[in-house]
Amino acid sequence: MTDAHCHVRRGETRHFLCDPTGDMAGPDDVVFHGYHPWCFLGSDRVELETLNDPKLSLTALKSRLAADPRAGVGEIGLDRLKERNISPAMREAFEAQLAIAAEFRRPVVLHGAKCWGEVAKAAQVHAGRIPAFLFHGFSRSGGLIPQIVAMNGFISVGPALLNDHAVNYRELVKQIPSDRLLVESDATAENASETPSVAEIAAKLAELRGLTQDELETMLESNATAFAGR
Ligand SMILES: [Zn+2]
Repeated sequence: MTDAHCHVRRGETRHFLCDPTGDMAGPDDVVFHGYHPWCFLGSDRVELETLNDPKLSLTALKSRLAADPRAGVGEIGLDRLKERNISPAMREAFEAQLAIAAEFRRPVVLHGAKCWGEVAKAAQVHAGRIPAFLFHGFSRSGGLIPQIVAMNGFISVGPALLNDHAVNYRELVKQIPSDRLLVESDATAENASETPSVAEIAAKLAELRGLTQDELETMLESNATAFAGR
């Protein structure tokens, strides 16, 4: 089993770990380096090299990618959840990191809370040079799914599936093509103890899709490999 998107290691699964430094990764994990859109909330302008923060740098991102040929880029994107307006810095940082992913030909984990259409549009520009995309935490209606498939995108299903009141989310999950599905915990150091495991999410997903646990796990592993290239 692979946790297709998380920020900490937990349990025996393989992790696709979004971690700017990559220090936590285990031998089977795939690390995604990048700077989350929340790093850029409210900044009107961005000093592109340092991304307005001495701890962030596009040069550091490039050298981490160069040092690990298996690594991807993420999570990167845009966000209208925390602030209604997307800051110029957030947009520039997203586009600069997409360009780096394209230059290095690496898979990308996307964040697009309340602005998935805009995120897909910006990412689409690099489709082909960026080998695959993960639409993590995707909860919009299914209208965007054909575009996601066309750009070799995958959609990871998260803990919301376990919420019996999330009727619309379950309907969306039913529409995701079988070869595009992944599961994610999105666990962080802060919420790890209360976040469900990917095994729990996968059990619910198997029930929803009418598959046995084994059938679903085989499908998910094949999709995880297709997304990450290993
Ligand atoms: Zn995340």
